[in-house]
Amino acid sequence: MARRALVAATANSGKLEEFRTLLADLPLRVISLDGLDPVRFPEEGLDYAANALAKAQAVADQLGEWAVADDSGLEVSALGGAPGPLSARYGGVGLDDAGRVGHLLSALEEQGKRDRNARFVCFVSLVRPGSDPLTAYGECLGRIVTQPRGGAGFGYDPIFIPEGFEATMAELPPGEKDRISHRGRAFARLREALSVELPV
Ligand code: IMP
Repeated sequence: MARRALVAATANSGKLEEFRTLLADLPLRVISLDGLDPVRFPEEGLDYAANALAKAQAVADQLGEWAVADDSGLEVSALGGAPGPLSARYGGVGLDDAGRVGHLLSALEEQGKRDRNARFVCFVSLVRPGSDPLTAYGECLGRIVTQPRGGAGFGYDPIFIPEGFEATMAELPPGEKDRISHRGRAFARLREALSVELPV
């Protein structure tokens, strides 16, 4: 069966890999933005759903292809829900993943609170030119550890232990993160909506 191109509207290689795995058994070919005409993305705001839709819409409008995007973040209770939608830029744009993790652990320590509860949230949008967009939500509850552990995944995975586990997201065996993560859950719902038109 011909596999329809689906452009992943993200510059985050960790997300791109997860998009590919989460959609692997559908008749879709997830392609990256590399090598395509440059896309102008609107400024991101504080609304995950609007951000996800805007990213996918920008690709669909400008390239005329199906597009998928997510907007996601880590919300830490003792930090009032920060970094939230600003997770990718937390601590300033000059930081890398390790720098943001260090910044978050210091902020939590300064708070001096014992509450380590947190959750990952994800809104995913799929836009097909000429059809209504599909959007789905997923979340994953857990807690923040004091020292990063594990080498898998990306972002804040090394400091987040999902509820019911002792391992961080970055220590989970292959496939396990996709099964329980905010993104895995959002994509499972997206797939339900899509399966009407793309039977597997
Ligand atoms: P955005 O959706 O591109 O604005 O970026 C979301 C940011 O949230 C990422 O750059 C990571 O810092 C963080 N994040 C989102 N999902 C995950 C995840 O699955 N693991 C670890 N960090 C994540």
